Amino acid sequence: SAEVTRRISEHPNIMLLTGEVTAIPDGPAIIATGPLTSDALSQSVRTLLGEQNLAFFDAIAPIFSRESIDENVTFAASRYGKGGADYLNCPLDQNTYEAFIDALLAADVHQGHDWDQVPYFEGCLPIEVMARRGRETLRFGPMRPVGLLDPETGRQHHAVAQLRMEDRAGQMWNLVGFQTRLKISEQLKVFRMIPGLEEAEFLRFGAIHRNSYLNFPARLTAHGAVEGREDLLFAGQLTGVEGYTESIVSGLLAGLNLDRILTGEQPLIPPPTTMIGGLYRYLREADPANFQPMNANFGLLDPLPERVKGGRKARRAALSRRAQEQINVWWAESVSRPGVS
Ligand SMILES: Cc1cc2nc3c(=O)[nH]c(=O)nc-3n(C[C@H](O)[C@H](O)[C@H](O)COP(=O)(O)OP(=O)(O)OC[C@H]3O[C@@H](n4cnc5c(N)ncnc54)[C@H](O)[C@@H]3O)c2cc1C
Repeated sequence: SAEVTRRISEHPNIMLLTGEVTAIPDGPAIIATGPLTSDALSQSVRTLLGEQNLAFFDAIAPIFSRESIDENVTFAASRYGKGGADYLNCPLDQNTYEAFIDALLAADVHQGHDWDQVPYFEGCLPIEVMARRGRETLRFGPMRPVGLLDPETGRQHHAVAQLRMEDRAGQMWNLVGFQTRLKISEQLKVFRMIPGLEEAEFLRFGAIHRNSYLNFPARLTAHGAVEGREDLLFAGQLTGVEGYTESIVSGLLAGLNLDRILTGEQPLIPPPTTMIGGLYRYLREADPANFQPMNANFGLLDPLPERVKGGRKARRAALSRRAQEQINVWWAESVSRPGVS
C-alpha cells in the first residue's frame, strides 16, 4: 500500500487533498472509502442507497470448490422440496455429530484487534457460539435435519450440514449458517470432519469482521455505478471485494470506467476468464438476500473447456495462463489508447 500511495502522490495528473468527505459529492466521483468508512459518509450512502444496503459487519461461512466435495456421500435436496436443487446435504449420524460438536467446542477462535470486535446478532451467530449454548443447538439450527430426506433411503438423518450453490456455474458451495471466527487451522480440521468434506478445498475461509460493504447486486450496476447517477461509482472493499489486489484493481477499473462514461463511451468489464472479471460477475450475480464479500479465488473463473492432466496444480496453472492472455487481449482491444497505459 506504500507503493500505491507513492504513485498516487507523485502522479502529475492527481491533486491529493486529505480530509474527511462527509457527504456524497454532486459531481462525478468514485467512492472507495473501504471497510471503515466514516460515520457521516456512511449515513449519506445509506440515505442514497437505502438503510439496509450498507452493512457494517460481514458474517462469512466457508466456501468449498464443487470438485472437492465427495458426492458419493452428499445428497442433493432442498428442505421440504422447496427452493430448487441448489443444495447439497452432508449427512451426520449421531456419533459423527457428537464428535463434530466436541471438536468445535475445543477449537481456537481468532481474537482480532479491539477495533475489529463485532457485536453478534441472533440471526447470524458464529457457529462456535451457537454450539456453546448446548450440544443440540445446532441440530435445531443450521444442522437441522427436518424436511431433508435422503433420496436413497427415504430416511431423515441425525443432523445435516447444507451446502448452497454460491455461483451460477455451481463451482462454489457455501456451508450455510457456518459463519465463524475459528482460526484457519481449526477450520481445516473441524469442518473437514463433516461427511463429504473430508478432502474439501476451501475457496474462502469463514470470517466475521467489522466491514462496511454495500449490497452490490441489489443496488449497483454491473460496473459499480448507482442507477440514475451514472457518474457516481463505488470501488474497493466497500463494494464487497476483499483484499489489497482486489481493491486496487477494482479502483483501477472504476477509474477507467468513469473516464469512459464522461467521454460518452460504454463502461467495460474484463471477461470472467480473468480474476477481476470473475469477481465482478460474482458481485453482479450473487443473491442479494445472502450477499457477502468475496476475495479472489479460482472458483470465480469460468471453467476450462477441456480436462487438464496433472491435477489441481496443473489446472490452476492453465487457468492463470488463460487469465493472463485474456486480460492482455482485453486491455489491447478495449482499453489501450493514447493517455491510458
Ligand atoms: C489488519 C488487516 C490485515 C489485512 N491483511 C491483508 C493481507 O494480508 N492481504 C490482503 O490482500 N488484504 C489484507 N487486508 C485487507 C485489505 O487491507 C483491504 O481489503 C484493502 O485495504 C481495502 O482497500 P480499500 O482501498 O477499499 O480501503 P482502505 O484501504 O480501507 O482505504 C480507504 C481509505 O478511505 C479512508 N476514508 C474512510 N472514510 C472516509 C471519508 N469519509 N472521507 C475520506 N476518506 C475516508 C480510510 O481512512 C482509508 O484510508 C487486511 C486488512 C486488515 C484490517
